[in-house]
Amino acid sequence: MLIVMRDHASPKDIQHIVDHLHQAGAETHLSQGEVKTVIGVIGERELIYTLDMEGFPGVSEVIRVLKPYKLVGRDFQVEDTVVTVGNTSVGGGAFAMIAGPCSVESADQMTTVAHAVKAAGATMLRGGAYKPRSSPYAFQGMGLDGLKLLREAGDAAGLPVVTEILDVRDAETIAQWADVLQVGARNMQNFMMLDELGKMDKPVLLKRGLSATIEEVLSSAEYVLKGGNRDVILCERGIRTFETYTRNTLDLAAVAAFKILTHLPVIVDPSHATGRRDLIAPMSRAAVAAGADGLIIEVHPDPEHARCDGPQSLDIPMFDELAGSLVPRIVLEGKHL
Ligand code: PEP
Ligand code: MN
Repeated sequence: MLIVMRDHASPKDIQHIVDHLHQAGAETHLSQGEVKTVIGVIGERELIYTLDMEGFPGVSEVIRVLKPYKLVGRDFQVEDTVVTVGNTSVGGGAFAMIAGPCSVESADQMTTVAHAVKAAGATMLRGGAYKPRSSPYAFQGMGLDGLKLLREAGDAAGLPVVTEILDVRDAETIAQWADVLQVGARNMQNFMMLDELGKMDKPVLLKRGLSATIEEVLSSAEYVLKGGNRDVILCERGIRTFETYTRNTLDLAAVAAFKILTHLPVIVDPSHATGRRDLIAPMSRAAVAAGADGLIIEVHPDPEHARCDGPQSLDIPMFDELAGSLVPRIVLEGKHL
């Protein structure tokens, strides 16, 4: 960390800061010019991040050189993390195709979609049992009954299942029924939940918050890894911008950036990113081109009657066609569905 002092800062102010840093256990290096003094601060990341020096007298600017995350960074681990989920995996060249409805609605819906997406090449089944809805009057999901239907459909089709955890109090219950716990965009910075998931032995699918920066996503993933759980999959699902034609704006540069910055697998959700059925296929192909390790796509056997996110859901023939269109490129790169 660099503390840049105001022009002609007094020796008293400089000494006050140096004393404070030494007391906290950090080392300091002074660069003193005629006008400016810069204090270089060296210490453990944990220590540096507890030091809030911005408000001290005479301070002009504090520049943090260390990243706020460590375990998720490529500096810490060069090789790609491969997250194994049941009979499949994601990362390190293994491609995940996660498909299924936004929300679990019935046994019939789930078994139909599970078998169909499996036949088309999906590697995991998704389905929300606890739904984060903007309106309290919208369908909130089937809860525990939904979890059971998801599990049954996944087992019948031979697919591991992914579902969202909305409340940390449901963690144990959901972990009993699901193979991957999805942290939704709205909970990306629910730090208590991330702490709890860090203690669990279940892969976590961490979605990017609606207005979260790349660094904030990585810092949230760091919470889970810090707790001991190394199985985190990041998901770019679009961010809020001024554009209204699409539901969100798919940030594919973030996918490429994540692949440089972190060893964790990165997947893309073109469904929530665009909100439009007609954009899912091209954006899926673009995601693969950008280096994504997988896709999570909403598929419903009858989108017109879906209780949640029908307009962005593919029907089964559309998903089949999309999955087929991805295969040649994935095979070419040695990836597999
Ligand atoms: C979902 O996957 O159904 C969902 C609600 O996604 P997000 O948290 O990205 O909005
Ligand atoms: Mn949805």
